[in-house]
Amino acid sequence: MIRCLIPLTLSALVALAAPAARAQTPSPVPVPAAHLYPLGRALPSPDVKVDVSDAPEARAWAEQARVLVIQWFPLVCQFLATDRFTPPKTITLAFKKDLPVPAYTTGTGTDGATISISGKWITAHPDDFGMVIHEMTHVIQGYPGRGDKPGWLVEGIADYIRFYRYEPDVPRRNVDPRDPQKASYRDAYRTTASFLAYVTWRYNRGLLSRLDAALRAGTYSDGLWKTITGKDLDALWTEFIGTLPAAAHVP
Ligand SMILES: [Zn+2]
Repeated sequence: MIRCLIPLTLSALVALAAPAARAQTPSPVPVPAAHLYPLGRALPSPDVKVDVSDAPEARAWAEQARVLVIQWFPLVCQFLATDRFTPPKTITLAFKKDLPVPAYTTGTGTDGATISISGKWITAHPDDFGMVIHEMTHVIQGYPGRGDKPGWLVEGIADYIRFYRYEPDVPRRNVDPRDPQKASYRDAYRTTASFLAYVTWRYNRGLLSRLDAALRAGTYSDGLWKTITGKDLDALWTEFIGTLPAAAHVP
């Protein structure tokens, strides 16, 4: 067979091969999985209660926040890896006259979760429903043994859901503090959220789901970033910072 082919020109070889190629069944265009955002189960919202006994002036805002949680709980479940997640029986939005922080979440087990919200904060920032999305994400994260988890990543995921899924149209700073060279992916919150968005877009739309799944299973390590993207965490961060011109920051 080989001796027979030697005298043939390249064009003749192509001509010989063409009928065989045409005879094959056309295969669908391959779509790399890295470009697909995997969605988890859309779990219904638990019963949402409102407690404004300490801040009755927050009543109207609290009712709007209650509707927000009921509507967005299933969506945020889909953005994360919630296949084996059991939601709490209830979520209570507890408004306090004042807190040292805008809000915080406690009791993320199956019994009931409480999102405590500062009445003073929402009076000064009545548009800050994104804060509720951040705290509700913590309820859905509900990682067992959360004290052992990397807090920067837990907070980064909650801000990613807020900024890139709930408020994608709001101008925001990419890193905080404003000097990228002094920032770190371990800064948590918006800095980590922006980093998650970059790596998701550039490398793998399943990043968040896989990080979330590992945090739930207690198997997370920084090495997971290399498994998912082919690059280690520090190299990804250096690359991300290199994409940020100083002018990109929104005051
Ligand atoms: Zn948080």
